[in-house]
Amino acid sequence: MLSTPASEASAAILPEVANVQAEKKWYQRSAQEVAMALNSNLKQGLEANEATKRRGEYGPNQLQEPPPRSLIQMIYSQIKEVLVLILIAAAIISAALGEIEDSGVILVIVVLNAALGAFQESRAEQALRALKKLTQPMAKVLRDGRPDQVPAADLVPGDVVLLEAGDYVPADARLIEVASLAADESALTGESVPVEKTAEVLSGQEVTLGDQKNMVFMGTVITAGRGQAIVVDTGMRTQIGRIASMLQQVEQEPTPLQRRLAELGKYLGVIALAVVAVVFIAGLLRGEELLEMFMTSVSLAVAAVPEGLPAVVTIVLALGVQRMSRRQAIIRKLAAVETLGTATTICSDKTGTLTKNEMTVAQIYTSEGVWKVTGVGYAPRGEFIAVVHSGPESKPVTEGSEEAVDQTGEKAAQALDATGIQGSFAPALERMLIGGALASDAWLTQDNHGHYRIVGDPTEGALVVAAAKAGFTREGLNRDYPRVGEVPFDSDRKMMTTFHQVPPDRFGAPVVSFTKGAPDIVLERCQSWYGPDGEVAPLNDADKQKLLEANSKLASQGMRVLALATRSWLQVPEEMSSEAVESDMTFVGLFAMQDPARPEVARAVEVSRQAGIRPVMITGDHQTTAVAIAKEIGIYRPGDQVLTGLDLERASDEELEAAVLKTSVYARVSPHHKLRIVKALRAHQQVVAMTGDGVNDAPALRQADIGVAMGITGTEVAKEASDMVLMDDNFATIVNAIEEGRTIYANIRKTIHYLLSCNIGEIVAIFLAIVIGMGSPLTPIQILWLNLVTDGFPALALGLEGAEKGVMQRPPRGAKEGIFAGGLGIQIGWQGILIGGLSFTAYALAIAGGRSLVEAHTMAFLTMSLSQLFHAFNVRGPMSLVKMGLLSNRYLVGAFGLSAALQLAVILVPPLREIFDTALLTASDWLIVVGLSFMSIVVVEVVKAFTGLRASQTGTSVPLG
Ligand code: ATP
Repeated sequence: MLSTPASEASAAILPEVANVQAEKKWYQRSAQEVAMALNSNLKQGLEANEATKRRGEYGPNQLQEPPPRSLIQMIYSQIKEVLVLILIAAAIISAALGEIEDSGVILVIVVLNAALGAFQESRAEQALRALKKLTQPMAKVLRDGRPDQVPAADLVPGDVVLLEAGDYVPADARLIEVASLAADESALTGESVPVEKTAEVLSGQEVTLGDQKNMVFMGTVITAGRGQAIVVDTGMRTQIGRIASMLQQVEQEPTPLQRRLAELGKYLGVIALAVVAVVFIAGLLRGEELLEMFMTSVSLAVAAVPEGLPAVVTIVLALGVQRMSRRQAIIRKLAAVETLGTATTICSDKTGTLTKNEMTVAQIYTSEGVWKVTGVGYAPRGEFIAVVHSGPESKPVTEGSEEAVDQTGEKAAQALDATGIQGSFAPALERMLIGGALASDAWLTQDNHGHYRIVGDPTEGALVVAAAKAGFTREGLNRDYPRVGEVPFDSDRKMMTTFHQVPPDRFGAPVVSFTKGAPDIVLERCQSWYGPDGEVAPLNDADKQKLLEANSKLASQGMRVLALATRSWLQVPEEMSSEAVESDMTFVGLFAMQDPARPEVARAVEVSRQAGIRPVMITGDHQTTAVAIAKEIGIYRPGDQVLTGLDLERASDEELEAAVLKTSVYARVSPHHKLRIVKALRAHQQVVAMTGDGVNDAPALRQADIGVAMGITGTEVAKEASDMVLMDDNFATIVNAIEEGRTIYANIRKTIHYLLSCNIGEIVAIFLAIVIGMGSPLTPIQILWLNLVTDGFPALALGLEGAEKGVMQRPPRGAKEGIFAGGLGIQIGWQGILIGGLSFTAYALAIAGGRSLVEAHTMAFLTMSLSQLFHAFNVRGPMSLVKMGLLSNRYLVGAFGLSAALQLAVILVPPLREIFDTALLTASDWLIVVGLSFMSIVVVEVVKAFTGLRASQTGTSVPLG
C-alpha cells in the first residue's frame, strides 16, 4: 500500500466519523475534529499500548529503502572485474588445451576470491548500515500525557508530537498549538522562504501544500519557534512518501582517500601489466613454453594488481568507525575519518561539551536580598539561605568565603525574622522563583528508580528545580498562571518571554510577561526595577552598572548568570515578536547557576595540545563565565586573546584573520559568528573541527572541515549538517575520535604497505628468475594461492591494529600529505625487493643443488608465503617488534596462524600437494626456507634500529607507520 489518502487512514480507525468528514481535508478541520477522527487526545496524546497496536497496523514510519544487495549480486560484481574475467578466460583456454585439473583449480580460486571479496563488501555494507541505525532520528511525543522521546519510526497516526526549532518534522501532522512556529518546506515545495505556521482551521477552498499553514510535513525543518501537532499520516503515506520513489537514495560517497586509492590502483595496474608483459616476452625469448608463460603472466597480473585494496580500505574504515561508535563518536560521513587525523583546531561549545550541563541554581540575587540555594542535582530538596540584608549597600557574597556567608546568613535570617517573613518566602525571592519557572519549558520528572530527571533544557530545568525546592511545582504554576503566549528562546537573541494570565489582585494587571535571558541583554531592555525597598522604581545608569557588576562577580566564579524581567499587560499583545514585547521591562533579579566542568576535559585538552591540536572555546555565555571555565580546564592560557560577539561584529574579516590564531575564547557569540571564525581559521590552512547543536549552527558545521553535532542536546538539523555526532556531547570524545582517526589512517597505510610490498616481491622473484632463464619460481596456481591466502587475512588484520604508542604525541598529518608520505613508497620498494630476493634465493639454491623443479617451486613458494607472513609483523609500526610486543595484535597472530596452517596444508596434505604441485621437503630444506623467510624480519629490524638511532641523534621523527 503505497499511498492512502488521509481520509482512508482515519476511516481505518473510526469509520462513522470519517464518513461525515470524508470530503474534508485535515487542514479544513479543527484540531479537535482531527483528534476525534484519529481517536486521540490533544492533551494526553495516545496511550502507549494504543501506539504499539497502531504501530503493528500501520508499520514503521519510514520511507522505504531499496533492499540491500544480495550475496549473489555481490559475487557477480566481483566476478565481472576485468582481471577475473581474464583469469576465467585463461582457465577456459587451459581446459581446451587439456589441462583440465589446472583450469578447475583456477576456477575454484576465482570463486573463492570472489566470495572473499563479496564477504568483505558485505561486512563493509553491514557496518555502514549499523551506523545508520545509530543515527536514526528521534521524535518528541506525548504518550500517556507525558512528553517522551521515541524513534521517529515508531510514530503512528494520532500521536501528538512536540516540535521546536531545529527539528525535522517526523511525520505529516496537523498543528494544534504554535508559538512563532516556522518551517522550511523547500524539500517538498521548492520554496526556500520559511513558512509561518498557525494552528487555526483553514475552512475555505482546497489549497496547495505550500498554503496548508496549519499542517507540517515529514522531512521539512522547523526553523523557528515551538509547537504541537497531531500526526495524520506516517511512512509512505506522507506527502514525501508519495514522491519518495522519485527521490534517489544518496549513496555513501567515496572518501578522498578511497578516490585516490582507486586512481592509484589503476596506475599500479598499468605498471603491473607492463611488467607482466615484459615477463611474458622475456619468458618467450628465453624459450619458455607459450601456454606456460601465458598462464604465469595472467596469474602474475592478477596477483600484482592490488584489486582487493579498495575493499580492504573500506572495511578498515567501516570497522574503525564502529570502534569509534563504541567510544561515543558516530561518524556520519566516512570522509571525516580521514580528516580527523589532520585536525589542527577544535572549536568547542562550552555548555554541555566542556561542562556537564547539569545546572543548579546556586544563588539568587535581587536588590532586596541575596539567597544561597543549597542542594545538588535535580532533586527538589534544598534551602534558601539569605546571605545579604536588603538595603542599598547590598552585595552578593562570593563563593570561597563560606564563613562570611554563614555569618551574614545568620544576620540576614535574623533580619528576616524581625520582619516576620520567615516561614514563607520573601516577595523578591518568590517573584524570582515563580517567574523563572513560568518562563521555562522544562519538566521535572522521576524515573522508575525514583531518580529526578529533567525533560528539556538543563538551564530551564535548574529554574524549575529551584522553584520546586520552595514548593512551586510546574503543574501548580501552570494551573494558577496559565501560559497564554510566548516568544521562544533563540541563541541569537539570548532570551525568551512567556505570557501568563494572573490574578489581577496580586499582580495589578490581568496579564504578565516574564523574560529570562543573558543579563547584559535583558538589562538593556529594562526601564525600571524592583528597587531595594521592594517597590518598582526607574532604573538609572548607576543601578544598571551595579547590577552588571554583580553579574560579573558571579560569572567570574564560572557560574552561568540569567536575568529575569517582567512586564504587565492589559491583554495578551497581538504581535508576538521580540521587538514588540521584549522592551520597557522591569528588572527582577539574577539567577546564578553552577555548571561544573566535566572532570575528563582538562586531561583531554592537555592531550590535544600534545597532539598539536589547539582547543578553542566558542560560547554564547558571558565572557567572564567563559574565561573562568576556560582557565580551569586549560583552554585559556595567559597571553591568549578573548573576543566577544560584539568584537566580532566590529572586526573586518582581515582583522579577524589576524586575531584568530591568538584567540582561545569567544564569548557571547551568536551562531552566525561561528561561520566567520571557521572561515578565518581556514584562511590560515587550519583544519577545523567545530561543534554545534542549534538550527543556526548548521552553516558553520557544514563549513568546518569536521562538523561535530551534539547527540543529546543537538537538533536534528545540526546532526544532519554534521560529519560526526557525539553521543555524550563530550569534548573528550572529540579528542578520542581524533586518536581513532589517526589510527585508522595509519592502519590503512599499513595495509597498503603490506599488500604492495608483497605484490612487488612476487613480481621481482618471477621477473628475476625468468630473465635469468631459470623459468618461473612459482606456478600459476601457486601465485593465485598467495594472492588469496597470504595477502588476504594479514592485510585485514593489519587494519585492526590498535593505536600506536605516541599516536597523540606527534603533530597532525598535513592535510595535503600523500598516502606514501614519510618514506612509505621507498619502504614498500626495498622491502618488496627483499621479499622477492629471498624467494628467488630459495629457488636458486634448490636448482643449484640439483633438486627437482617441483621441489624448487615448493621452496620458492614456501619462502614467498612465509616471508610475506613474517613481513606483516614488520609493517605494524616504525618501532621494533620487541618494543611493540610480538603478540599485541591478536588478529594478526590469528591471521598468521590461519594462513600458515593453510600454507602447510597445501604441502603436507597429499591431495592438495597434488593439486598445488608441491613436494615434501627435507629437514635441511625447511631450515633454509624458514631461515630465509625470517630474514625479512631481521633485515627490517636492523634498518628500524638504525633509522631510530639516527632519528634520536638528529632529533627528527621516525617515519609514521
Ligand atoms: P554554548 O554556546 O557554549 O553552548 P550557551 O548554552 O550559553 O553556551 P546559548 O544556548 O546560545 O549558548 O545561550 C546563550 C545565552 O542565552 C546564555 O549564556 C544565557 O544567558 C541565555 N540562555 C540560554 N538558555 C536560555 C533559555 N533557555 N532561556 C533564556 N535564556 C537562555
